[in-house]
Amino acid sequence: MEAGYLEVIAGGMFSGKTEELIRRVKRAAIARKRVLLFKPDIDRRYRRDAVASHDGRDLRAVCVPADRPEEIAARARRERPDVVGIDEAQFFSGGIVPAVQELVDLGIRVIVSGLDMDFAGRPFGAMPVLMALADEVVKLKAICVVCGEPATFTQRLIDGRPAAADDPVILIGGRESYEPRCRRHHEVRPPSSPGTRGDDV
Ligand SMILES: [Zn+2]
Repeated sequence: MEAGYLEVIAGGMFSGKTEELIRRVKRAAIARKRVLLFKPDIDRRYRRDAVASHDGRDLRAVCVPADRPEEIAARARRERPDVVGIDEAQFFSGGIVPAVQELVDLGIRVIVSGLDMDFAGRPFGAMPVLMALADEVVKLKAICVVCGEPATFTQRLIDGRPAAADDPVILIGGRESYEPRCRRHHEVRPPSSPGTRGDDV
């Protein structure tokens, strides 16, 4: 049995992580490797990005419930792919770590892509652990929209203003957006208290 191998593609939003994952998976498919691609069933907006085409046949990501990453290992045990790609790995529960380790132990080349930090600059989900366990880590950078330097952070804006670290992940009402920023231009407002909310401080 061949030895497995773990590659992690990390970075902020807009840094091209999914494109890099798809590029690697496509090359494996061209080399006639059997490929399985997974993503958490939480982020349906990007479903169509995770499609690679080879010989007229689409390579579609299998959507797995974010809290049941063990289904990735179960499916790989049945289908015995050579290569497994996992996109948006930060959204999977902690069970993604033993699942990935099992795949690697089965001799599979595993390519994981995900956000290494959340909008507040905090390590995101199981990504730091996966990066530690990886044979190879690539950190991709976007471009800071303020100064044009390489951007390693993801800026969250709510109604055009930097979000606070404790702002709810699911927003009711306010308009939110995300943009790539460098360390110098990444802003996180201090935790908001009811009295200061909405003030320009
Ligand atoms: Zn900048």
